[in-house]
Amino acid sequence: MAFFLNSIPVPLKKNTADKPSVRMTDVKTVMIPMLMHQGTPATPVVKMGDLVKVGTKIAQANGELSSPIYASVSGKVTKVCDYLTASGKYVPAIVITADGEMATEEGLTAPTVNSKDELLAAIRESGVVGLGGAGFPTHVKLNVDFENVETLIVNGTECEPYITSDNHVMNERAGDIEFALSAFKKHLGIKHIVIGVGNNKKTSIENMKELASRIEGAEVIALPSTYSHGSEEAIVFHATKKVLPQGKLPVDIGCVVCNVTTIAEIGKYLKTGMPFVERYVTVDGSCVKEPQCVIAPIGVSLEELFAFVGEFECDPERVVYGGPMMGITVPSLSAPVLKTTNSVLALSEKETKFPKETACIRCGRCTNNCPLGIAPAAIEKAYARKDVEELVALQVTACMECGSCAYLCPAHRPLVQTNKLAKALVKEANN
Ligand code: SF4
Ligand code: SF4
Repeated sequence: MAFFLNSIPVPLKKNTADKPSVRMTDVKTVMIPMLMHQGTPATPVVKMGDLVKVGTKIAQANGELSSPIYASVSGKVTKVCDYLTASGKYVPAIVITADGEMATEEGLTAPTVNSKDELLAAIRESGVVGLGGAGFPTHVKLNVDFENVETLIVNGTECEPYITSDNHVMNERAGDIEFALSAFKKHLGIKHIVIGVGNNKKTSIENMKELASRIEGAEVIALPSTYSHGSEEAIVFHATKKVLPQGKLPVDIGCVVCNVTTIAEIGKYLKTGMPFVERYVTVDGSCVKEPQCVIAPIGVSLEELFAFVGEFECDPERVVYGGPMMGITVPSLSAPVLKTTNSVLALSEKETKFPKETACIRCGRCTNNCPLGIAPAAIEKAYARKDVEELVALQVTACMECGSCAYLCPAHRPLVQTNKLAKALVKEANN
């Protein structure tokens, strides 16, 4: 698989970058799904009528590839309902009616950590999973032999338009990041830490350089802030000068990549014992009059979250979790903030209207600008023929769905959607 440091001229619209984040505490209810991570859903440990506080465990991890879940408000458990995940699976969700107090669970103390096993157990207990969007349990990702894996890469690139959550974390939570990285150095035996930050985040770069100067073997690199330099492939290349082969994980070439907010939340738990109950969410989009980066309780509805930042300027045509390039459309405003929600965008009709697609003019822009050198136009043809062999040869399964090809296509072909369908076809054929 080839790899090119391509980027595309997407307007970054970081409207909330220079405004301090605001914490949302006056919340009516939260609905917390039991699956906000990759793996097995957590098992509820509370029932209707139970009183909970911020930090009370409401669900325990079910197996190694799972994660515990904690109450994000104080109040009463009033309902257990079904929640439809983005993967089309129903899981239970616990509804807590808030009492407005935001009282915290008594007796939360920093965990005792004197070894690798204790550190990994603490990370598991913190409820932190990959907060860049993937939701992979972090205690599993970090359970590698750092004798053979040389580099931990901390991803603070955040190149999707609008999103500034990691930027705020780097500006406001450098102490937590340093605490976690120091614990990782001490107990995991990591030799080399590279913190990658988009070069449009000057204050974050300074903050990260300052903390890195106090951690042996840590350095900061500034990456291009253009889209899609925040991809795992790109940051691995920038940090190690190695190309991630198709079908391989960073660990196969000697590195582990963790999102910077993930690291900060682990640091907070290691310092205080307060598990992961709230997260930085960028609330923006062309329909939002006063965009803001909000520290929101997990489980709060998007309706309450948008109301918190003010009225809509116009009715949203589409609301998405994540950024406009890779985000997922939200079915309704009653959907909750999840562990992995770094951004919610309310987009207008103008911003979401897909121009009418026309015939491919073979301009080659899609292939020439794909960071992986994939040929989406050829994939479209192979998919139309349902030619699985050809789709495999065209390496469709490597597509990271960054959306760059579709963004640039002058014929407005739905290239990412076709790639997703083609990947599903290949997967089905292989089962
Ligand atoms: S969506 Fe896939 S094919 Fe299109 S540019 Fe991104 S990686 Fe390449
Ligand atoms: S960018 Fe669009 S029009 Fe150009 S080759 Fe690719 S699919 Fe065809």
